[in-house]
Amino acid sequence: MKITFWGAARQVTGSMHVLDLPGGTRVLIDCGLDYENRKEFEAKNERFPFDPESIDLVVLTHAHIDHSGNLPNLIRQGFSGRIVSTAPTLLLSEYLLNDSLNIQRMELAAKEKAIRRKRGMKGKNIRLQPLYAKKHIQDFVDMAVQVDYDQSYVFNEELRLSLHQAGHILGAASVRFEVTHGNVVHRVGFTGDLGNANSKLVPDPHPMEGLDYLVSESTYGGRKHMTDSRRAEEILLDEVTEVCVQQGGKLVIPAFSVGRTQAIIFTLHQLYRQGKLPNIKIITDSPLAIRSTHVYQQHISYLNEEAHEFQRQHGGLFNFPLLHVVEDDRESELMSVIDEPCVIISAAGMVEGGRIQMHVRNNIGNERNRILIAGFCAEGTLGWRLLQGQDFVEINHKSRPVRASIRRTDVFSAHPDHEQMVNYFEQSHASRGLKGLFLVHGDFVQMQKLAGDISFCQVHLPGKGEVFQLN
Ligand SMILES: [Zn+2]
Repeated sequence: MKITFWGAARQVTGSMHVLDLPGGTRVLIDCGLDYENRKEFEAKNERFPFDPESIDLVVLTHAHIDHSGNLPNLIRQGFSGRIVSTAPTLLLSEYLLNDSLNIQRMELAAKEKAIRRKRGMKGKNIRLQPLYAKKHIQDFVDMAVQVDYDQSYVFNEELRLSLHQAGHILGAASVRFEVTHGNVVHRVGFTGDLGNANSKLVPDPHPMEGLDYLVSESTYGGRKHMTDSRRAEEILLDEVTEVCVQQGGKLVIPAFSVGRTQAIIFTLHQLYRQGKLPNIKIITDSPLAIRSTHVYQQHISYLNEEAHEFQRQHGGLFNFPLLHVVEDDRESELMSVIDEPCVIISAAGMVEGGRIQMHVRNNIGNERNRILIAGFCAEGTLGWRLLQGQDFVEINHKSRPVRASIRRTDVFSAHPDHEQMVNYFEQSHASRGLKGLFLVHGDFVQMQKLAGDISFCQVHLPGKGEVFQLN
């Protein structure tokens, strides 16, 4: 059996790993978009380094676009096998893939315009195509098989698999493969993205048992979370009190539509039911987040005990009288200039694109307001630039004075930190004894730090396209 690492190899995005089984079955684990360098987006994602028709099975660990985003393109180029995921992952992916297609179309339209401007009549007939069409998203839905956590799924005589709770976001799964060849059975696990301990809504990750090899994410290797997730209510209440009550300002929170937005709204709802939340508008402004929130509410059985208990007591996780859901673009604009203390939660998380840019632009010039960065911001993004502490920041090609305060919190982090990961590996090792650990989905320096703390088995940091024989 061999494994080839085609994505998220010494980088965070573009998860894509191929497992070749001795009997000829070919499995792809995740099929994400590579976002590492926006200028090379098409070149990096258009073609696959293997024949899409040769893949028999795709296992999708979770809905995030850096894990699911290139699957419709794989289908467009001939993949016709089976896709396995949990039920919520399937629903969330459908929404995220449609959103990703819209973003691609908008970006390509802007590119076409620039080309026409540059080439005049010669560029008149230029038409740039997105990676896939809407039809391929529907094909994805039709080809998918839903598998529940901890159930054994038999694919063929040499392969059975099971999905396990990974935390991270609703429906996220780690996958455990059991490969039988003659009298020998190999067991290989892939963590997918793991969740932070004690996160809002999602359970803690469940390590897989009896593995020979483990392929793991390593996003926060070498880093320690500053704030325990159990302090989420306290931290958020402090922010709301300081900004909205004491300063009479607006608290603007950029948040990813799937995962972070639901965790923040749920926490505010908890504060409301405890009678602690001041009487201010909580504005949620992202069409994708609103759709995803419904999927969370529909799949309570996938959420943690705290969410179950809250549901039993209050009959719903997200709806409360102070919550205001923005319907359309026009209302979104009105809400961004509303002249009263409020909380605005909008996407995208790194303040790149989406409606959040307008909210930041319209509120950054007032010293009473605050932008609360609640997630990871890649270098060069607007979120990252805001965190650099400069007096002026460029938004939509215009320099704007930064008068609002800029804060950061990692209390809503959706990944485990260094120590949590080392614990996870130790637990994975304890039941059978790992022969090897492969780290992916992290920067090289972070991976090295994590690898430096593992002494009980061999640790590999595979490069892109690197092949390993698993015996
Ligand atoms: Zn993820």
